[in-house]
Amino acid sequence: MDPMQDLRIGLGMDSHRLESGGPLTIGGVKLDYPFHFVGHSDADVLLHAITDAILSSANLPDIGELFPNNLPENKGRDSADFLKAAVALFRDQGWVLVQLDCVIEMERPKLSPHKGEMSIRIGEILGIEPDRIRIKGKTGEGVGEIGRGELARSTCIALAYRPG
Ligand code: MG
Repeated sequence: MDPMQDLRIGLGMDSHRLESGGPLTIGGVKLDYPFHFVGHSDADVLLHAITDAILSSANLPDIGELFPNNLPENKGRDSADFLKAAVALFRDQGWVLVQLDCVIEMERPKLSPHKGEMSIRIGEILGIEPDRIRIKGKTGEGVGEIGRGELARSTCIALAYRPG
């Protein structure tokens, strides 16, 4: 590694409850599925984890500090707006986003048919190539709140560097 490069990682994690009534918005993609995430914004669990990972890698305030969930202007808001604002702040500080590695823990629906579309959409939002974004789906093996389909959780690591 070039010692002149400032290389950092950031970890983001989020979870949201599911309630009946579709569609399901995840990774910026609307899936035809009869449940949706519950939250103040559109509650896109993957975009929230990515937003926090990117902010954390640059030692910036987290999503809850930047976009409080008690502000009316954030109600029902498209989480792509949060992510765009976060990456703009990140770039303002001179950071370059190298890679995102993400996990979604969710019992249903099966995510593998949709992972490619999510990577493309997230790449568009962030202005990076989709092959720098890896998304993995995991079930809860039928156990606990994730296994019963009541909750979804997403975890993401961002790798950032700032040229010296
Ligand atoms: Mg959230």
